[in-house]
Amino acid sequence: MNLLFSSIKGRLLALFLSAFFIVLTGLGFFLYSKLEGIVIGSIDNHLHSEVQLIAGLLETEEEGLELELSEAAIGDYALSLSGHYYQVVLPDGRILARSPSLSIPSKKLPVVKGKYFDPLYTTITGPRGEPLRLLAQSFGLPDGGVVTVEAAESLEEAEELLRLFRNTLFIVFPAVFTISGLGVLFIIVWSLRPLERFSKKIGTITERNLNERIEEARGSELSSLAKSFNTMLSRLEESFERQKRFFSDASHELRTPTAVIKSVCDVTLSRKRTAAEYEEALEKIKQATERLSGLIGRLLEVSRLEGKLSSLKFEEVELKSLTEDVVRLLEPAGTGSNVAIGLKGDRVKVHGDRERLTEAIKNIVDNAIKYNRPGGRVDMEVKKEDGCAVIIVRDTGMGIPQDRLGRIFERFYRVEEDRKVGGTGLGLSIAKTIIDAHRGRIEVESEPGVGTTFRIVMPER
Ligand code: ADP
Repeated sequence: MNLLFSSIKGRLLALFLSAFFIVLTGLGFFLYSKLEGIVIGSIDNHLHSEVQLIAGLLETEEEGLELELSEAAIGDYALSLSGHYYQVVLPDGRILARSPSLSIPSKKLPVVKGKYFDPLYTTITGPRGEPLRLLAQSFGLPDGGVVTVEAAESLEEAEELLRLFRNTLFIVFPAVFTISGLGVLFIIVWSLRPLERFSKKIGTITERNLNERIEEARGSELSSLAKSFNTMLSRLEESFERQKRFFSDASHELRTPTAVIKSVCDVTLSRKRTAAEYEEALEKIKQATERLSGLIGRLLEVSRLEGKLSSLKFEEVELKSLTEDVVRLLEPAGTGSNVAIGLKGDRVKVHGDRERLTEAIKNIVDNAIKYNRPGGRVDMEVKKEDGCAVIIVRDTGMGIPQDRLGRIFERFYRVEEDRKVGGTGLGLSIAKTIIDAHRGRIEVESEPGVGTTFRIVMPER
């Protein structure tokens, strides 16, 4: 039962059946009471005209009641216990006259005592035990006396008609209810079929067939759902592809220093070595290990960043002081490489994640020091430009060839693998991911042998 109501089909059907049941029952009661009103109303009308007729006979004649009333004693009134009766009674209950249909002494019509100048309609039990509709009305006679005329008519035919109508309702309405219920069930099942196909199709999509798409039947209510689902699939597929590429690039990068360590160990251990040779081997292993640990650190940074991008802690950040912090952090490296760092500019506020922005700027300034020449400079500037916050990092380093500029933000991309400077090719991709998440962009210009200029542009707060 619970299962039935938890499904859309079950709920729709239950809703329709309950609404239809209420409407049908209401309609049944309404029609029945309407018909009952019409039937009883027409009997009442008939009784009313009969009573008026009899009263008319009483008023116009002075000769004897019996004689004149014999004019009314025809038809059904003349047949014994026919179900059509009248009688004329005095206010004290004495019967003055009655229809021949009441001629059997033991079979009587109840006597209405008193005066009822307004018509009195009631339903009573007749001489045969049949249901009777009775109208009693009092009239003043020309001689000053008062008589009450009672006319009654059997309700047997009316009740038979109503019984027939009731029985018809009891047969027709359940049949209509059942047929409509089945019809509605069919319509619901038919209408929900695309949804079922949809969910079946979704169920077959795994990481292995992410390239498949749901059919976007135009004009169907499901088309926008299918479209959103397909967009989500595209994004998932893209992200899966990125992950795969990342894993294969990462393993490739990790393999090189590991292979170096292994081969140095193999060569060194192949025979006895002098202390100087061992020292040289250890030095090579140390360098490879440093590269490995740098790479692992960066990889951790990338994976941490992936998780954190959706939960960046946005707050008001002042870029000048943030850049000063970065300079303070990297000054020892600059001094070590004989590179001077300068910073000037205005105070500019942005809406961002302080920690992530520091990381992005640090990666760019770190490169400007790393890829500089001894005695070179890194000049930084923070300023407002066209409603944007701009950080410029200009170095006097080796520069980047024009044809490589477009690729430096790719993961693991390094301009020249054999450059003496150690690196992982991940720093700029991390910086770009962070700045993108802040709705900003990084621009780069470079002239080999002269230097490189990076511009970080972000919406000002
Ligand atoms: P890496 O760890 O190798 O520095 P990045 O992603 O930070 O990785 O940089 C990618 C590549 O772009 C570097 O390997 C380097 O060749 C080039 N590059 C980045 N910044 C500069 C710069 N200021 N001057 C010259 N080359 C740069």
